[in-house]
Amino acid sequence: MRAWGTSFLLALLVLTLAVGGVEAKDPNKKRNAEALRFAANNSLFVLYHEVAHLLVDQLQLPVLGKEEDAADNFATWMLLNKGTPEANRALADAANGWVLSGIAYNREPDDSDYYAAHSLDRQRAFQIVCLMVGSDDRAFKPIANEYALDRDRQDSCHWDYALIDRSLKGLIGARAAKNNKVGTEVEVTYHDVSGRLKSAADAFRASGVFDQVAQDLRSKFIIKTPVAFSAKRCGEANAFYDADTVEVIFCYELMQDYLDLHASGIANSAAPALPRPAGSGRASSAPS
Ligand SMILES: [Zn+2]
Repeated sequence: MRAWGTSFLLALLVLTLAVGGVEAKDPNKKRNAEALRFAANNSLFVLYHEVAHLLVDQLQLPVLGKEEDAADNFATWMLLNKGTPEANRALADAANGWVLSGIAYNREPDDSDYYAAHSLDRQRAFQIVCLMVGSDDRAFKPIANEYALDRDRQDSCHWDYALIDRSLKGLIGARAAKNNKVGTEVEVTYHDVSGRLKSAADAFRASGVFDQVAQDLRSKFIIKTPVAFSAKRCGEANAFYDADTVEVIFCYELMQDYLDLHASGIANSAAPALPRPAGSGRASSAPS
């Protein structure tokens, strides 16, 4: 087991204080706790997105439309089906994350963005919100209003969600692990990292999201081939499913990217109304 460093203990302390409500007395601690939650929740969404690619590949699932859209829909559907305040908060953070990354990295889309495998970041945000209000219009009307989805679209999102719900239940239901049958063998590895990324890597591990998604895969899906979950330094802020190694890879740089996005200060405003920050963006870092 890797030795737990000072920064990890610091991250754990921040999380503990947040849970205890102590953060309300200290704005810095509150902000740190919010940044960690935002980064962990966006990482959680991305991990379910990568699991969707894994399931499409390993279970040979049919996909009508863009696989990247289907992977986002799967991640949203998985979190909605948990039906917990934490999962709902994760979806709100993920939608906010896509809005913010669109502003930060993809301010002026060109044709390469329109023909890309991924939809525009801002579209990905609205799709999450649409499925939320489509699954439960009373519970999620506030966030749909916050994102200014008009009444007609809020109503029609019901059909979007119903179609995805029916499709995923049909595709995955028959292949789901049931009655305590062993589902999927998943080995989780956190690779050591030093330097600037260590704090983000420790915070990612402490958040528990990697282990949470791995456990979901073990208990809910039957994949015959063992699956590797690897968290490591990649050289870019991203996450991947590698079909050759049957591996879900999470890059510590992506956790750092989410922390930076939050630290930029723009995450604290109402996302849809955010002003565009000054300065040039960089190429989209949309997870694969
Ligand atoms: Zn993808």
